[in-house]
Amino acid sequence: MPCGAGGRVVRALMSLSLSFAAEELLCACDVPHCSQPNCTGKVCFVSKRKEEGTITQHRGCFSQNILEHCQTPVTEQYGMRCCKSRMCNAELEIFLQGEDALGKTPSLPNLLLMIFVPLLALLVLVALTALFCWKVAQHRHKHSDFGDTDLMLKASMVGDSTLEGHDPMATLFAQDLLNDDCTTGSGSGLPFLVQRTVARQITLMECVGKGRYGEVWRGVWHGESVALKFFSSRDEQSWFRETEIYNTVLLRHDNILGFIASDMTSRNSSTQLWLITHYHENGSLYDYLQRTALDVETCLGLASSIICGLVHLHVEIFGTQGKPAIAHRDLKSRNILVKSNRQCCIADLGLAVMHSQGSDYLDIGNNPRVGTKRYMAPEVLSEQIRTDCFESYKKTDIWAYGLVLWEITRRTVVNGIVEEYRPPFFDAVPSDPSFEDMKKVVCVDQQTPVIPNRLFSDSVLSALAKIMKECWYQSPSARLTALRIKKTLKKLNNSVEKPKAEQ
Ligand code: ADP
Ligand code: MG
Repeated sequence: MPCGAGGRVVRALMSLSLSFAAEELLCACDVPHCSQPNCTGKVCFVSKRKEEGTITQHRGCFSQNILEHCQTPVTEQYGMRCCKSRMCNAELEIFLQGEDALGKTPSLPNLLLMIFVPLLALLVLVALTALFCWKVAQHRHKHSDFGDTDLMLKASMVGDSTLEGHDPMATLFAQDLLNDDCTTGSGSGLPFLVQRTVARQITLMECVGKGRYGEVWRGVWHGESVALKFFSSRDEQSWFRETEIYNTVLLRHDNILGFIASDMTSRNSSTQLWLITHYHENGSLYDYLQRTALDVETCLGLASSIICGLVHLHVEIFGTQGKPAIAHRDLKSRNILVKSNRQCCIADLGLAVMHSQGSDYLDIGNNPRVGTKRYMAPEVLSEQIRTDCFESYKKTDIWAYGLVLWEITRRTVVNGIVEEYRPPFFDAVPSDPSFEDMKKVVCVDQQTPVIPNRLFSDSVLSALAKIMKECWYQSPSARLTALRIKKTLKKLNNSVEKPKAEQ
């Protein structure tokens, strides 16, 4: 046999075996004789057998194409399916008679998933519903006291009957909250949410005053009178400033108006700004002096209490219960209230500036409003004031304090004589003086109010007259400090009280 012919036969046999081998299929295999998870054969199969209620399933390959096997009809006990592509039996499913895709027995992890996923979803749903119901209940409770959720207050004139039948605990809390006698406390402000709640539980009673930029009303909260100041939108910076100061600085002091709450709401698409403070039925010192002539003791009491308030503002207190130094910048008899014990308290911090020595931080605020022209110090009118220096602002307060002292002493009876109430510079400027009017009198002519002669016939009043003059120096640095005035008045008080005790 020629070598070439024999070689052709070998090649033919080889290609036959190769093509045979190429027709071998890779199948998934889990029958016991498979040492690997796969096998090679002519067809892949999956078989299922049910014996005594137990189902066993196998995958593997047939080395010969035994079609009869593959064509075995599926019964309740046995079934087989075949396929002819690489690993085609890996995912091949077979269902016995009476068994369908839905009825197939799930694996344990699947079973757990089938139980726990819907259970978890149910639990989440229940929890969300409970949370929602609780929120709704809370919301209703919060607004139930004033019925209409759109209205901030029951802004109607109502009789005293609305004050009756309140929860005694709430009334006690109210009394505690509104207690005038507390000089110290944990900050001036209540927590914001409480402030809001208080604001919305107040019943408005009557308008007690109109200021430059807003109105003041008497309101009732849990049987106690409170004052509500409404700020016009023109003066929103004053509200922001006052709210900021009361909420950040510990300002509880007998001679500073007691703060209760601050609230901002939107009504008919406009913003309403409120400040709620203690109510003082005597009104402002300005109001009080119109109708009341004073004896020397009361005069001294008013003057001393105002300077106590001013010292508390001006002084920086260090430590955890501390406060920055504050200058008022709009001190006047209208911004001082007279309490029922005839002590005064200083109100209206809308223009105040703060200073902290430690951090050398001067907070001038952001208010376009200026002080009241009539009470402006010469350096403010001449615009020479050093606006970057905190001390300058304190000195303008002292100038104004001198003017308030002048208003008080005019209304004090000495030797049976007393004068009508008049505002400072009443005889030098028109009733609503302009900046220029004031500048001419205070800076150019360097006028100060005339001190009535009769004051010099009383030792206390002549001491007060001396203090006034020392508040009115043109040079700010020459003026007294609030602390110096307080000490002088304390001495005066002692000298008045001693002879009384000796009597
Ligand atoms: P202004 O300081 O420009 O006079 P306000 O709006 O501060 O204006 O006050 C207006 C008036 O309301 C005061 O002059 C005073 O009669 C009255 N008033 C202000 N606050 C109180 C208060 N807490 N208690 C009683 N009356 C007040
Ligand atoms: Mg005021």
